[in-house]
Amino acid sequence: MAGPTDTLAARWTAVRERVDAACRESGRDPAEVAVLPVSKTFGAPMVREAAALGLARFGENKVQELREKTAALADLPLEWVLIGHLQTNKARDVARLASEVQSLDRLELAQALHRRLEPEGRTLDVLVQVKTSPEQSKHGLPPDELPGLLDRLRDYPTLRVRGLMTMAVQSDDADAVRACFRQLRDLRDAAAGWGHVLPRLSMGMSGDFPLAIAEGATEVRIGTAIFGRR
Ligand SMILES: *Cc1c(COP(=O)(O)O)cnc(C)c1O
Repeated sequence: MAGPTDTLAARWTAVRERVDAACRESGRDPAEVAVLPVSKTFGAPMVREAAALGLARFGENKVQELREKTAALADLPLEWVLIGHLQTNKARDVARLASEVQSLDRLELAQALHRRLEPEGRTLDVLVQVKTSPEQSKHGLPPDELPGLLDRLRDYPTLRVRGLMTMAVQSDDADAVRACFRQLRDLRDAAAGWGHVLPRLSMGMSGDFPLAIAEGATEVRIGTAIFGRR
């Protein structure tokens, strides 16, 4: 039976409380860990309901959906974050509609985004998505290519490289999942030695965010636990 725990407001509150609890368990300040609500597959009316709760930043993984929702919700001051694999030929819409891309995984995409942003005098926050899982289906830059890409990104001043993003292996083995998150944190720490300050670590989803927070996530991307099953 539908009860008060089934409302969007109740689920959002519960997620924030679980994130705060995970922070306390890891000895971290809850103010250091943001939640990015992932609204992919849910329609504009649901996002509008979430916006009424005070949520203002949403993760999407498809450019077509981003176009539809930004058009339907143009009256609201929302920010849109791309978290899915991006084809280079979609760079124009992304540059126009998104405030941030967390799935930057290759130089070609950086070039395409820069080419669209520069004439508009706009900038985009970006996170480099790193592949920390052996699964074929997971996109991302191979870790050993990170130093090279970070150096090359210096040529594209419209892209403000703020950190790293990853998706962990899908597994019941907490150690295996945790190893993915730890690898991302280690890469962030190593990057400081290469001259790249990357404050943000976007890692953890509905099923694994406490482990990501224990390993240093500054942002968790939560879809199912807020909006429901897709
Ligand atoms: C869908 C998605 C999420 C959210 O996943 P949930 O398990 O629904 O919380 C996070 N990150 C990425 C890259 C996604 O595609």
